[in-house]
Amino acid sequence: MEIFERLESAVRFYARSFPEVFVSAKGARLRGRSGREYIDFFSGAGALNYGHNDEGMKQALIAYLSGDGVVHTLDMASEAKETFLTAFKETILEPRGMDHRMLFTGPTGTNAVEAALKLARKATGRKTVVSFLDGFHGMTAGALAVSRRGLAPGDPLPSVGDSVFLLYDGAKGNNFDTLDEMASLLSSGGDLPAACIVETIQAEGGIVAASMDWLRRLRGLCTEAGVVLIVDDVQTGCGRTGTFFSFEPAGIVPDIVCLSKSLSGMGLPMAMVLVRPAFDRLEPGEHTGTFRGHVPAFITATEALRFWHDDNLTREVEAKAKIVKSGLERIIENHPGTLVPPVRGRGLIQGLETRSGETAKRISAEAFARGLIIETTGPEQEVLKVLCPLTIPETDLKAGLTILDEAVTAAV
Ligand code: PMP
Repeated sequence: MEIFERLESAVRFYARSFPEVFVSAKGARLRGRSGREYIDFFSGAGALNYGHNDEGMKQALIAYLSGDGVVHTLDMASEAKETFLTAFKETILEPRGMDHRMLFTGPTGTNAVEAALKLARKATGRKTVVSFLDGFHGMTAGALAVSRRGLAPGDPLPSVGDSVFLLYDGAKGNNFDTLDEMASLLSSGGDLPAACIVETIQAEGGIVAASMDWLRRLRGLCTEAGVVLIVDDVQTGCGRTGTFFSFEPAGIVPDIVCLSKSLSGMGLPMAMVLVRPAFDRLEPGEHTGTFRGHVPAFITATEALRFWHDDNLTREVEAKAKIVKSGLERIIENHPGTLVPPVRGRGLIQGLETRSGETAKRISAEAFARGLIIETTGPEQEVLKVLCPLTIPETDLKAGLTILDEAVTAAV
């Protein structure tokens, strides 16, 4: 690690939790230069839902590059983009009754959030955006202004003049409907917000899942007041919760959806905003960017859609989610003084709350020493986050849960 310590910026973060030089990866496993193999319960923070180096995506990419397929076009038309646009419409949008347009942004989640906020402000002519405490939307200025995670203690707060923060569903210690606050804000007669941006599960906020009723009420409030509803599905989309979009079980359709992370399928950078035609109001060139719609990512993203031609993956996620939930419940039972019930989250984004960030960090380190990569999350980093690939073999999933149990024992 000496070269990284000497030459790379001190801002390195995950490299400190997982001190290994990684050389190869396949499916749910990573291999390090030390010769050790690791089970992946992290999945590139949700960028590798289909696992590492999926054979179909990899071969499609190799074939495309071997044929000198065009790699960079700015946002000019390419055959690869045309194929993706058609496949995404037919596989994802049409079956869900969505007529949203696809807007490609710079290739990371935060770029999608910036574009979503800009679209909502332009379409409504209003400025304020409602978001939720402990939410996280990215590290660029606009996204940070609607996030209450991602800042180190003592950091100067970003400009939040145009942001209003409300309590999220299930926010600790509340026994009232936190959307009552939103209802009073919208009916107060004051200036209306342009948009409300929400995660269906606050991932960086500690894996706090909103209830379906809460999401439906939020949709209703926004519709009544003419406020644009933006769902940030950057981490929870692309099948993480079982359905392609995380909001599907609530039966709602957002006006704008932000997607990135697993959209390209194999970890190539790619982000996209889905926008209802009525809000697709940016003029040509009003939101440019050199890497909007990276062509190789269209190739793998199109291939990734094969997972959505039937409901096999959804059923697989549901089955594995049960294994994770019962496995985590057993771990809590084994360590009642260290872990706090209930298990958090849904689908294959689940969390194990510990009594402190220090404890969670020690458990993550002990897990890593035993060959499992698992990250911490939450306001104090007190929650261990199970974010395995959706395609993980059951044997690896169970082996990972066993290691986690052993790691808790070792850490306390
Ligand atoms: N939104 C959500 C919900 C996220 O979880 C993240 C990243 N963790 C982002 C936006 C930002 O994505 P990126 O790091 O690719 O900019």
